[in-house]
Amino acid sequence: MPMSSVNPANGSVLNVFETWDRPRIDKALSQAERVAPAWRGLALAQKADLMRQAAHVLRHRRDHFASMITQEMGKLLRESRGEIDRCATVCDYYADHAAEFLADEVVPEVEGDARVVFQPLGTILAVMPWNFPFWQVFRFAAPTLLAGNTALLKHASNVPRCALAVEEIFRDAGFPAGVFQTLMIPSDAVSDVIRDPRVHGVTLTGSEPAGRAVAAVAGETLKPSVLELGGSDPFIVLDDADLDRAVEQAVVSRYQNAGQSCIAAKRFILLPGAAEGFMERFKAAVKALKPGDPTREDTSLAPMARMDLRDELHQQVQDSIAEGAVPVLGCEPLQGKGAWYAPSILDRVVPGTRAYQEELFGPVASILRAKDDADAVRIANDTRFGLGGSVWTRDPERGAAVARQLACGSTFVNSMVKSDPRLPFGGVKDSGYGRELARAGILAFVNTKTLTLR
Ligand code: NDP
Repeated sequence: MPMSSVNPANGSVLNVFETWDRPRIDKALSQAERVAPAWRGLALAQKADLMRQAAHVLRHRRDHFASMITQEMGKLLRESRGEIDRCATVCDYYADHAAEFLADEVVPEVEGDARVVFQPLGTILAVMPWNFPFWQVFRFAAPTLLAGNTALLKHASNVPRCALAVEEIFRDAGFPAGVFQTLMIPSDAVSDVIRDPRVHGVTLTGSEPAGRAVAAVAGETLKPSVLELGGSDPFIVLDDADLDRAVEQAVVSRYQNAGQSCIAAKRFILLPGAAEGFMERFKAAVKALKPGDPTREDTSLAPMARMDLRDELHQQVQDSIAEGAVPVLGCEPLQGKGAWYAPSILDRVVPGTRAYQEELFGPVASILRAKDDADAVRIANDTRFGLGGSVWTRDPERGAAVARQLACGSTFVNSMVKSDPRLPFGGVKDSGYGRELARAGILAFVNTKTLTLR
């Protein structure tokens, strides 16, 4: 099956790419294996210089890469530029900190010289999604390569141009051939790659079924894996919240990237004292969103990335309404050739509805009501997911008390959930396991080795 690059704003086909056959995949795996010893042996300072050069290539060709993202998956052009900037930042961050993160740890309690050393595992496969087609790859690649591993990318089939562009960035930055390679393969070729003895670990960002499939093969072959899967993050508005600020951030968190982010706020849990004021402001702000050409500065809502994703979202919304949820705004596809969906709010989302149980990966906010702080925590945790969560209150101690009780990987009081190179990122429960970013991210694919000298 060829891979098609389709502009989701208007349905036009940009490119069609042939997928690789077995000999071509084999050639890439051999190349990774061949270059691995030299890459591992290169001084860390030299690897860091190459990573800084990758940041330079990104910044230098920012508009080119940003426009590629927008054309291929629909994101607003200004958000695509921001994505390229973040990629450059994560390259610089690991170039600056890798030496400190990977330094030997001396264990003085043990007699003689005892230390912990951190060594690369080999070649790591990354199975990546289309929603942040550069950022998701760079936040894996920067730490993984600086740890001394080589990397293979199997990108989502709807972003083949971005997939090839990322490989080109590392090549143009001067990385030796084979250190980072994009494999043009469909998802049914992934398990054979994981099983290959020349591959030593795998990471996946994407849906739960994809995560389960990859983790099963990693488990069978005893290879380490990191999974960053879906989320249904709560956004808890306590009755003393600054509602203007909460609503402003609620709109950004739910509707940026057309709502297609694992850490978007998806379930808005309102306390009685905040509900009316929040809803009034929120409805007005969501109504003011302007869907349209993603390259225009005055557009504030992008199309979704693919027609099938839009149709699946609409089915979830329709089923939720049939199950008792109340449509407040939108809740329907928009006219036009592309994958458009109206900015939407679904109120009275109660247990038993699809919107309560599943992730809504698009521009639809679910509104839930709670009696008090304890009830809000109970509802927030009443989900299979556990990626992030935010709490809004003028009382930081109260906010921290609620945040500590949330069963998820990242909690933010009075700001929306974000990924930041300096902070570990990942989930619990069905949102996956393992951590990306910060020091945890560079230790994800290393051999933490004991070395004692007497
Ligand atoms: P997928 O999970 O199917 O795709 C993500 C990546 O996994 C792609 O590279 C895909 O390849 C690959 N993949 C899919 N199935 C397998 C498999 N069985 N074995 C190995 N690799 C696989 O996401 P979709 O694009 O279909 O989106 C569906 C839903 O997934 C969204 O609505 C959202 O809920 C969730 N999602 C979550 C993301 C997140 O950030 N956590 C990101 C994207 C989606 P290919 O494209 O070739 O199928």
